[in-house]
Amino acid sequence: MTTGTASPALEVRGLVKRYPVKGGLFGGGRVVHALDGVTLSLVHGETLAIVGESGCGKSTFARCVVRLEEPTAGSVLLNGADITRLGARALRPLRRHMQIIFQDPYASLNPRYSIASLVGDAMRLRGISGRKERRRRVAELLETVGLGAEFLDRYPHELSGGQRQRVAIARALAAEPEVIVCDEPVSALDVSIQAQVINLLKRLQKRFGIAYVFISHDLSLVRHISDRIAVMYLGQIVELADTSAVRARVLHPYSQALFSAAPVADPGATARKKRIILVGEVPSPIDPPRACRFHTRCPYRQDICAEKAPELRPVEGRLVRCHFAGEPGFPPMPAQEAAMHG
Ligand code: SF4
Repeated sequence: MTTGTASPALEVRGLVKRYPVKGGLFGGGRVVHALDGVTLSLVHGETLAIVGESGCGKSTFARCVVRLEEPTAGSVLLNGADITRLGARALRPLRRHMQIIFQDPYASLNPRYSIASLVGDAMRLRGISGRKERRRRVAELLETVGLGAEFLDRYPHELSGGQRQRVAIARALAAEPEVIVCDEPVSALDVSIQAQVINLLKRLQKRFGIAYVFISHDLSLVRHISDRIAVMYLGQIVELADTSAVRARVLHPYSQALFSAAPVADPGATARKKRIILVGEVPSPIDPPRACRFHTRCPYRQDICAEKAPELRPVEGRLVRCHFAGEPGFPPMPAQEAAMHG
């Protein structure tokens, strides 16, 4: 795995997020288990993708990591420094090392400010105080992200979706971060623009050594751009592996079903793939199963699956949360047909 000896840019240990259920007849005292013990790390210059169905907790994870939400338990370390419980003042100088880019750049860019102000603000926080100097550097950054100095005095509403996302990226870069959490950064953009923004992110990573946590529901894209992939189900990681290993084969039954629905580069291979349709009830995150969280939908469940929770454990050079992962021929045949050759 890519986790080697390099020191991690970001370490997340046992992250838990629970929300109290408000109101309603049965609301009192009940909690939504949005994240349950998520542990992972990433090194400088690496892209770690997080995938899973909507509601699996991936966006909550993004928001807790950058402290837009307070985790219920667990810790987040940035370059070895624990930022989990720092107050606003202590967090400020560290915060710039980790930025977030959202799906909807329009919502994240204040429409009342010019592009020069929006991007320059992050520089002001970095101590670049002269307005002229900031403007010069913002113009440079706008060039870096494929816009030009002519955008300095424009406002978000004057830009296209792709241009706005480039401004959001420029604003993140202005802080000179080591980690950028990208929460579905291209899913609101046209396909042709998506490719441009992805190429831009990859170029910037190469140039500045930035590590990305890349949250996406687009499995083809994820296979293309990430070094490692974490698959989440109901607030837990169920498989964490190098992307090359995922391309060859996935070992968790949920990953198998998830990736069986994703198109691959070769249209013939896509046509030959057998899509695994999951049946069975999706458990509520308010009261997730105490045993294997996937057992209500898993085609291979056994009695033990409804009784005992599987640990996330090393299997064939990756981490998998399933009692049977690693047994010969598991998961059974559809895995061959669902194998990815992207
Ligand atoms: Fe399926 Fe059982 Fe493995 Fe859970 S532990 S994924 S129910 S086989």
